Amino acid sequence: MLNPLISRRRLMAAGSMASFSVLFSKLAYGAATGDAGPGASTATSVVPAFLGSSPQTLPPLPWADNALEPTISARTIGIHYGKHHRAYFDNLHKLLAGTPLEQASLEQIIMQSHDQPALADVFNNAAQAWNHNFYWNSLSPAPSAPSEKLQAAITRKFGSVDALAKALVATSASQFGSGWGWLVLDRGELAVVKTSNAETPFTRELVPLLTVDVWEHAYYLDYQNRRPDYLVATVSRHLNWAFASANLDRV
Ligand code: FE
Repeated sequence: MLNPLISRRRLMAAGSMASFSVLFSKLAYGAATGDAGPGASTATSVVPAFLGSSPQTLPPLPWADNALEPTISARTIGIHYGKHHRAYFDNLHKLLAGTPLEQASLEQIIMQSHDQPALADVFNNAAQAWNHNFYWNSLSPAPSAPSEKLQAAITRKFGSVDALAKALVATSASQFGSGWGWLVLDRGELAVVKTSNAETPFTRELVPLLTVDVWEHAYYLDYQNRRPDYLVATVSRHLNWAFASANLDRV
């Protein structure tokens, strides 16, 4: 049973009463109807069909925690997944308990909270939960190859998989502070982009195909300050091209 009064009280701590009341009305309307409500921006409320619908539940890792060794240690994966990723879900549950978004998908929450300063905590935890879901699947213990369709797109834009890998490493390494490197589809063309902190490309109408985490918690135990070494090793050995190919097919 939803209790908007309790949820308002809890969440108002994060923003002014007036601004949060307006936001909450829009979120409640959107959660009930699938629409953003009167006056709300459509761009912040529609979940692109290719993204699907992810529950607010920590999914299992797609491989054993030592499966990426020696590139990424079991200790790093264990803490990264078991502490950091889990904490984003735990924080989100606390933030949304008793609100109309309590049962919403991560994608709905992200689209409805991004660029809303009063909902920064909600956005950050939902987006980090989603980004990490995507990150684990972007990595594979065993080598894989792009589909014919993805290979053709890579050849057209970058010339070769090696050239794309170099671009992804360079762009990801250059992220100032915490963030993510991504292979995305930008209006039908492949592109390599970076995002800071919890930002995720699909709020900017970019389709994510693969990601690498460049928060320090992703590599510091194994590589300390050598972020480029982590990126070169991970990108050259463990990118899951089958996952990227499947993501491209869903667009
Ligand atoms: Fe991370």
